[in-house]
Amino acid sequence: MNYCIANWKMNKTISESINFLEEFKKKDLQNIKSKIILCPSFTSLKILETHVTGTKIELGAQNVHQNKRGAYTGEISVGMLKEIECEWVILGHSERRQYFLEEDVIINDKMNTVIENDLKPILCIGENESQRNKNETFNILESQLTTALSNINLSSNMLIAYEPVWAIGTGLSASFDQIHEVVNWISQFLLQEFSLKVPILYGGSVSAVNCESIISLESVSGFLIGTSALDVNEFSRICSIVNER
Ligand code: PEP
Repeated sequence: MNYCIANWKMNKTISESINFLEEFKKKDLQNIKSKIILCPSFTSLKILETHVTGTKIELGAQNVHQNKRGAYTGEISVGMLKEIECEWVILGHSERRQYFLEEDVIINDKMNTVIENDLKPILCIGENESQRNKNETFNILESQLTTALSNINLSSNMLIAYEPVWAIGTGLSASFDQIHEVVNWISQFLLQEFSLKVPILYGGSVSAVNCESIISLESVSGFLIGTSALDVNEFSRICSIVNER
């Protein structure tokens, strides 16, 4: 099974989200074998539920709080997501790490809460440019994974997205060889340290032009897509290319 996940970030109002989805449903994606997951803003999440009914499209949130309830102004709980039939949650995105100071221990708490409450995490990991230049990529990934996954009742109902920070939103995707090397390393590491075999996605400037070669890698099970997922034509082209693999 391959995955195409749209991370809309802080883009698209409710009406823009509905327009995208209605246009997307007109595309020829009838015999879709891969899983398509849209992660809109919280304000659009509930209304989109009615628009995906009867389709194979699933919905995800871009974040959730690690506590189940309480005095956490501005936050959203797992219970709130479950009530609106949201199934997936992106955790550990580099923008949450960078702008909201989410550290691996917080991501670990969130992973725990999400899994305990039967939601499915999409855990993002990845090195930044200076870490890659200093040959620290594997140390960084090891430390992100070790902390985020420690003491958790791990289930195979989760996804890992390898997203090199330097490739996110830059138009500069990681190369075929770089993705191949890192994704293989991640799958070995998960197997050795956690006896875990889960789909590993790539994210970072994925487009309709570069997705075909990346998805030809046996170890890559799809994409987490930011910029290219904002445009319905581009996103549906990527979905149909992934579907053909
Ligand atoms: C992302 O933010 O997860 C992402 C992959 O963005 P982009 O596709 O724009 O690089």
